[in-house]
Amino acid sequence: MKVTLLHHTPLPVAAHAIRTCWQSFDKSDGGGPKDQELIDRVGNKYKHASTLEHLVYTFYIQGISRALLQELARHRMASLSVKSTRYTLKELKNAEPFSEEDFEGASRYIVLTGNEMVDRASIKALNELQKVLKAGISNDIAKYCLPECYKTELTWTINARSLQNFLALRSSKSALWEIRKLAYAIFDALPEDHKYLYEDYINREGADAGHG
Ligand SMILES: Cc1cc2nc3c(=O)[nH]c(=O)nc-3n(C[C@H](O)[C@H](O)[C@H](O)COP(=O)(O)OP(=O)(O)OC[C@H]3O[C@@H](n4cnc5c(N)ncnc54)[C@H](O)[C@@H]3O)c2cc1C
Repeated sequence: MKVTLLHHTPLPVAAHAIRTCWQSFDKSDGGGPKDQELIDRVGNKYKHASTLEHLVYTFYIQGISRALLQELARHRMASLSVKSTRYTLKELKNAEPFSEEDFEGASRYIVLTGNEMVDRASIKALNELQKVLKAGISNDIAKYCLPECYKTELTWTINARSLQNFLALRSSKSALWEIRKLAYAIFDALPEDHKYLYEDYINREGADAGHG
């Protein structure tokens, strides 16, 4: 998977929002240590968390499975624009069929788990889908036999309050391995001066033990 940060709100915007409440604009240091401490104190420690909603991030997330997508879509406090299988399945239709051993070729279209039995079954499902497409069945009907491992991508926009919730839930040891990987990739893509707002929400325990 690949996560690219396309856009983010600079920290002084959140500091300005907080300072609006007390009209203390003259105390701002333009997003420096004073403003950073203020955002953490008011937004996190005082739980005046609505002030964190002024910080918004837009990510371009590529190469995740549709299995992960349906979990990501449960996070209602975010906006998603997802690659449509209705309009894009021709990319698979025009490819050559994949041999059961062609993990590298198939991985252009599906997320592999590293479990050989599962990955072979996924390649079979991919080839079955391709047969349906090559037989001229429309995308709107063919998409009903898409395997969950089929790769997708999306533009995802989320505010800091919701991102803290997402990172806490999805970096947890009990989260699905692929969404856990996504949580780390999103954290890593954040601007360096924003990361301190999320450190307490990221759980790295056993992070290397996952699949794929
Ligand atoms: C380990 C794990 C296992 C899971 N297993 C399942 C499962 O088996 N089946 C399943 O269906 N889901 C499952 N989920 C998904 C889970 O139920 C949530 O839908 C998902 O994690 C999104 O969390 P959220 O509602 O906090 O986030 P968001 O939807 O982004 O909401 C953010 C916050 O806004 C507030 N909020 C949003 N909507 C409402 C509302 N209607 N009323 C009150 N407050 C609201 C809440 O404070 C919420 O935390 C699982 C999640 C995890 C992490």
